[in-house]
Amino acid sequence: MQRGLLFFLLLISTITSVYGYELILPKNKNSTVETNYILFLGKANNGENITINNEKVFTSSNGAFAHSVKLKDGENRILVRSNFNTQVYKVNKKNKVKNNEIKLNEFEIKPATIKKDNTPLRNTPIDSGMNRISHLFKDTTILINGDFGDFYRVLLSKNQEAWILKKDVEIINPKNSDIATFINMDSKKFSNAQLQTISFTKNLPYTIEDNDKEILFKIYNPELSQNSFYTLNIPKPQKYTYKVSLDNGTYSFKVNEIPKNLSDYTIVIDAGHGGSERGAIGGLGDEEKDINLKIALELEKILKAQNLNVLLTRECDGNIDLATRVDFAKSNDANIFVSIHLNSIGDSQMNIHKMRGTSIYYYNKHSKPLAEILEKTVTKSAGTKRNGIHPGSFAVLRPTEYISVLVEAAYMINPLDTVLYKKEDFAKNIAQGISNGIIEFITQN
Ligand SMILES: [Zn+2]
Repeated sequence: MQRGLLFFLLLISTITSVYGYELILPKNKNSTVETNYILFLGKANNGENITINNEKVFTSSNGAFAHSVKLKDGENRILVRSNFNTQVYKVNKKNKVKNNEIKLNEFEIKPATIKKDNTPLRNTPIDSGMNRISHLFKDTTILINGDFGDFYRVLLSKNQEAWILKKDVEIINPKNSDIATFINMDSKKFSNAQLQTISFTKNLPYTIEDNDKEILFKIYNPELSQNSFYTLNIPKPQKYTYKVSLDNGTYSFKVNEIPKNLSDYTIVIDAGHGGSERGAIGGLGDEEKDINLKIALELEKILKAQNLNVLLTRECDGNIDLATRVDFAKSNDANIFVSIHLNSIGDSQMNIHKMRGTSIYYYNKHSKPLAEILEKTVTKSAGTKRNGIHPGSFAVLRPTEYISVLVEAAYMINPLDTVLYKKEDFAKNIAQGISNGIIEFITQN
């Protein structure tokens, strides 16, 4: 048995030394892709010079390398050469199937109803990106008057249309649709919050505009009309969160000032991925989910020492879906949510060596100031390259009830970043940088 194992290990090391490198990507010697590039990611053995299609491949001090090859249509033969060995990889580039040209089809106004809570209403008929204008509640009655591919066109007011996925709504018979009428509205002021309510006899669609000085909350189609809408506006404090809820035709729209004292804060730390969801893989075979968790546990220690209430979406390796992470933060009244990741790129990009360092993502306007601070404090503490702040439509970033940011600490695939994240104190330094940023955000005026 032991001799068998020894033989097996010898065999593995012989294969490795014969090749002179180990490849993480591509996974197979023969593959079929639809992308313009294919990524070669791996580790060169000591002293091995790697070339791919005769181009010298940059290798970091620990052997990690990453190299993209531009593909032509059809079969591509890619030669990977180390000091004494050449391997051939065959990649078949298929052309993407193009959709037939989609046309807008207009029709008479029809009422329709929303099937489930949290249904995105968008300003373009595209099922991704930063185009959401609100999230509608179940049993909201909307007016549609056209379709485009998978979307219906939604009529909000004379000058404003929106888009909604067909699968999210059900067209209803106008005869069965009662007209929604206005009942009343009310406004209440608390020491650290302002609440406005507005009631109709039925659920109507809404949008939110977070402007410079105030937040505009608009409700459309009273009396099934496209000519009128109601507007509530709440002046906003400097640091705020907000929440929209709907109960039987009554909207509650609450803007909260976020606490001033560290001890009043609940911070939810979210280590990205986990379990079978490994996240990105580095050239040396490291898995993103493990590094995310290390950083999260370090951050927990540092923040707890500052008297903050800290909760983790996961404290060990395991699968957790995105909705559970969001629900966890909401049900624990989180003030700040920090999701921790390391970045990667797909087979669609070329400039791997420019993809380096720390990037911070945010979705809502009220989370942007924290993103800006973190981009400075994390890169300063961990010595990573500054890679900017970016809007990103990720499920964990979209809720408005808390400040939410996603930290991409470094690039898993970048050979130079590999050297950084393999360092003993990397997780601690990233965590320290995140903590510094959070404290600065809370305590600044
Ligand atoms: Zn990730």
